[in-house]
Amino acid sequence: MFPKFFLFLAIIALLACAPLPPIGPTSDIPTTLPEKTEEEWQVPKTVEQDTVERHVINVGVGIERGLAVIECPEKKWEFKAGANLGRTEIETEGNCKYGEKTYRGNWVVISNDNNLVIINSLPIEEYLRGVVPHEIGRLKQDGFEALKAQAVAARTYAYSHLNSRRSLGFDVFADVRDQVYDGINGEDSLANEAILATNGLVIKYNGNLIEAYYHSTCGGRTESSEIWGQESKPYLTPVSDSANGKAFCELSRYMKWEEKYSRQELVSLFQRNAIDARIDKTFPFSKVEQILITERFPGGRVKRLVVFTDKGSFEAFGDRTRRLFARDGKLLPGSAFSISQDKDSFTITGSGFGHGIGMCQMGARARSTAGQKFDEILRAYYTGVDILKIRD
Ligand SMILES: [Zn+2]
Repeated sequence: MFPKFFLFLAIIALLACAPLPPIGPTSDIPTTLPEKTEEEWQVPKTVEQDTVERHVINVGVGIERGLAVIECPEKKWEFKAGANLGRTEIETEGNCKYGEKTYRGNWVVISNDNNLVIINSLPIEEYLRGVVPHEIGRLKQDGFEALKAQAVAARTYAYSHLNSRRSLGFDVFADVRDQVYDGINGEDSLANEAILATNGLVIKYNGNLIEAYYHSTCGGRTESSEIWGQESKPYLTPVSDSANGKAFCELSRYMKWEEKYSRQELVSLFQRNAIDARIDKTFPFSKVEQILITERFPGGRVKRLVVFTDKGSFEAFGDRTRRLFARDGKLLPGSAFSISQDKDSFTITGSGFGHGIGMCQMGARARSTAGQKFDEILRAYYTGVDILKIRD
């Protein structure tokens, strides 16, 4: 009993300290577009029999160390960390306010010594209303099929991650660690229509829910899930996101990007980012002499990069190379890049924003505008899949 309880507290403490990845503020991509990292996507999948008939999702919307107030139409509930240990379930007829936001659905509050875990419990179809506009943006009518594609991808994610955060008492986080969920405040009428129009539809491969990864801008070609060191999945193979020589996502401001670094700046950045970028060995050095890309993934993204310094060389791998060059809290937009150098500096020229696996959201928007239907869009990015009702 006790060791388990302390483990729970340690996890809570760790989560409270975990820094969130940067969000990419752009004009063509919603500012709330989450930049998911490898860890955030790789939630241990623990879907079990008890979720087979479940249509309700438990969303961890807050972990508090002081007071928590949930204001429902019938009653204002107040909780104090450390008091009334245990679990409180709140059923309500209306919408309740917690923090600055208003939410649909019911509540569970778990009080554990110094922490309160605040859980919003609601039907998956209602949860999606607070998710879809955050994951792909508020779109106009010509983006309706893209909204539908996003709704199906987000629904697939939700069903395939029921129970995935069970040790914390809920299914998914309400932020970039899973899908961004903003309650009623985040809803949008056209996105609601898209969710309704695709009610219950999910993406399956050979009868199983897929890992429905998606990202902002592929830059013309998506990537294999090998980029995260995973076994390649048959439905996540690299595909061209182009027609007639033009990438569907070409209107993204991240279609082409460039970052320039002085040699001296890279010395300090590499030393600071070494652990986060998981380089193969660390040692002190005072000069970066050369950087070579020695291997690429099937979709063209960097697989292995070697840095030669005055004291020896080290390597960085895959999507982690984006962290090696992080500065001012921002990673490189993507890992489809090349490097050139002159006497004083290195220039990285790249294409795309995000990990590049699965659906390209900017591409989905352009395909929608061009008249493609949502299932056609999904099948363009997830190879050989079926779009089916969750219970089919
Ligand atoms: Zn694309």
